[in-house]
Amino acid sequence: MIFVGTLEIVFNKPLSNEMLKDVENLVEFLNRDYLKRGAKRPEDAATIKEYSISSNIISMRIETGSRVRPDEASLRIKNAFANNLGPKYKIGVRDIILKNVKIVIEGKISISLKLPFIRNISVEGDKSVIELSELHEEDLKKPLFLRLLRLIEEKEKRIKWGGKAEHWILIKSSGAKIEKPVVEDPNKILEDIGWIKRMSIGQWLYTPPITHLLNALKKLFLDEVVKPLGFQEAVFPKMYPLEVGLKTGHLRGVINSMVFASLPRSYDISEYEELIDSMYVMDEVEPQELQKYLRPPSYFLCFAQCEPFYWFFENEIVDDSILPVKWFDMSGPSFRWESGGIHGIERVIEFHRIEIVWLGKPEQVIDIRNKLLENYEKFMDKVLDLEWRMAWVTPWFYEQSGVVEEEQREININVPGTIDFEAWLPYKGPREDNKNWLEIGNISIHGTKFTEPFRIKHNKGETLWTGCSGFGSERWLLALLAQKGFDIDKWPKKFVEYVKETPFPQSIYTVSYPKTKEGKQLLEKIISQFKW
Ligand code: ATP
Ligand code: ZN
Ligand code: MG
Repeated sequence: MIFVGTLEIVFNKPLSNEMLKDVENLVEFLNRDYLKRGAKRPEDAATIKEYSISSNIISMRIETGSRVRPDEASLRIKNAFANNLGPKYKIGVRDIILKNVKIVIEGKISISLKLPFIRNISVEGDKSVIELSELHEEDLKKPLFLRLLRLIEEKEKRIKWGGKAEHWILIKSSGAKIEKPVVEDPNKILEDIGWIKRMSIGQWLYTPPITHLLNALKKLFLDEVVKPLGFQEAVFPKMYPLEVGLKTGHLRGVINSMVFASLPRSYDISEYEELIDSMYVMDEVEPQELQKYLRPPSYFLCFAQCEPFYWFFENEIVDDSILPVKWFDMSGPSFRWESGGIHGIERVIEFHRIEIVWLGKPEQVIDIRNKLLENYEKFMDKVLDLEWRMAWVTPWFYEQSGVVEEEQREININVPGTIDFEAWLPYKGPREDNKNWLEIGNISIHGTKFTEPFRIKHNKGETLWTGCSGFGSERWLLALLAQKGFDIDKWPKKFVEYVKETPFPQSIYTVSYPKTKEGKQLLEKIISQFKW
């Protein structure tokens, strides 16, 4: 990213000839030293390319890189002049004006012309040029302007990232474990035998038998992975005010997959008369009509499930005695609009998850993640005996340098970032093909990604980090069934123990349900194993 522009320093009186040598020296000092501070490479810093003086104005052509941006460079130049010429010649700086600013970016980007300070945007070859309107000192100091520059930087990073959502590096895997893969799709079996029924796209009713299996798996996970580390259960809300999503970054990052909620415009039922009458007579509800009775959306439905944790500690000053804080929440569903790839219970709009969250000093947060990681590995490998792998995934927005290093041999996982756990789904195809693997869970260290915007402070000023981990229960059960099938002799012992702790619930079997004869026969065969 390069910025070019003309900076005018407007003094309160004309510059005299005796000042010229000082101006020259100042420009030399700025170019050699002051404007280069904070950047490793000179091209990332700022440079005064040339300057001219006319009466009370010094006009300079400046060029800056992404480390010392034009706002920062302009203010540094102003300070240098005010502090050096000011006292010596009794001259003051009245204003600084940054004109004809052009931001040149590699790659084609677009940016909303409705934003303040943006005058024009054009694409020249493989470069984009953003022109800004004239900026004065007070504009340069505005958070609005800083945020605009950050937005442009982020867009540039995204281009360099190459359109990939994340960068994937294998950390460890179980190796090939399954000799005779099950070929049936467990999603189809579950639906055929009537244990799940689709209510709407990506949304299922889980009948008692499958709920029993999901609960056994969740309990096993809590006992093996979560509780030994001292995590305690909390109940988080599942509908979040928009401001929360602004702070977590989800609204900016994944708005296309969020589900929103609206409140009614009025509590007075008489105001709904027309709508109610129409439903009576027409026996249908027109969503467009309904919309007129609703306020604009003011909530988004649980997306990451950890949002309320950061919100809870917002503006709080915490001390060592309560650190690290270790909670988990499993009190309700998450909602995601997954437009493509919705399939069975493995990619749904409404899913259930145990979300594990923690807050502490960096070394505490890393230590907890490492212990969780150990437990997760044991859980996947020994307890459930799955064929699994784990990978270091960096979503593009975590990448600091902007440029992805393809040849990364050794990775340091004790830094902010995410580890995904994946299971092979044999029914989808060979293990060699990545598309036949499913992310079942993940674990992240966020650094200060959330403690900063939520201003979560330590009483002695130490840095605080957070971490979170999501166990999507439908996906774990599906992975287990995809690898082990419905023959409970092949299921992991510990899991069967948990399943057998309480009587197995009755399946729904009626004249019309499950739908097909084959489904009914299969159901009978499967449930004959669940008698104890
Ligand atoms: P994917 O890449 O498969 O879309 P993701 O990266 O969006 O997954 P995360 O945002 O990391 O998933 O969510 C954490 C966990 O929540 C996942 O590991 C998974 O267990 C579960 N999960 C996420 N999206 C869904 C979904 N649509 N249906 C079921 N479970 C989900
Ligand atoms: Zn989370
Ligand atoms: Mg996803």
